[in-house]
Amino acid sequence: MSTTMFGSVDDIIRVTNYFENLELNYKVHVDGAFGGFIYPFTNEENSYSFKNERITSFTLDGHKMLQSPYGTGVFIIRKGFMNYGLTEEASYVQGNDYTICGSRSGANAVALWMILKIHGSDGLKVKMRSLADKTKTLSVQFTKKGIEHYRNPFINIITIRAKHISAQLEKKYSLVPDTHNQNPNWYKIVVMDHVKKGVLDEFVMDLEAMF
Ligand SMILES: *Cc1c(COP(=O)(O)O)cnc(C)c1O
Repeated sequence: MSTTMFGSVDDIIRVTNYFENLELNYKVHVDGAFGGFIYPFTNEENSYSFKNERITSFTLDGHKMLQSPYGTGVFIIRKGFMNYGLTEEASYVQGNDYTICGSRSGANAVALWMILKIHGSDGLKVKMRSLADKTKTLSVQFTKKGIEHYRNPFINIITIRAKHISAQLEKKYSLVPDTHNQNPNWYKIVVMDHVKKGVLDEFVMDLEAMF
């Protein structure tokens, strides 16, 4: 539920139909590390929830879209399945590792809880939709100007073909490349609150000036 570089979301119905047709015994774990705190708010009619009986578990990160401290990842799994998620590997910690134990900070869990309580479900809906809208506006401008890019309509990531981006531009706007080796193919922008309209307008003007 959203890749890190593109914000692309798999067609989960198509994927699970494939397994169903083969009559396989399978389990689905959803990686919502990035998308978990945006996609459900921007796309309410989606198949990525426990309403979809084919999904067993999810992970989602508070430290991405909610900007909580690092280490606020969440794992949720259907009742009766947690046993399969247990590992013997951390046997130096007494007891099986279900939740907050060992030297993990409980303050992280409290921080995440507070952020969720303060925004509330409706608050997050407004916040996440406005980020997706801002991303859409940028996408429309790119399309008009012939700048090749990818965007999922429900996600705040916009990924631009590297041919449009000069080294100067990459540096000025701290753009994120798909590879830190030579010759990236793509650069992305994650549209957050601090990515203001003024900066985006200036960026579009700089892009045009490259041609
Ligand atoms: C960030 C991210 C991860 C890594 O998760 P961490 O909890 O930050 O270690 C995994 N998958 C996706 C899609 C991500 O965006």
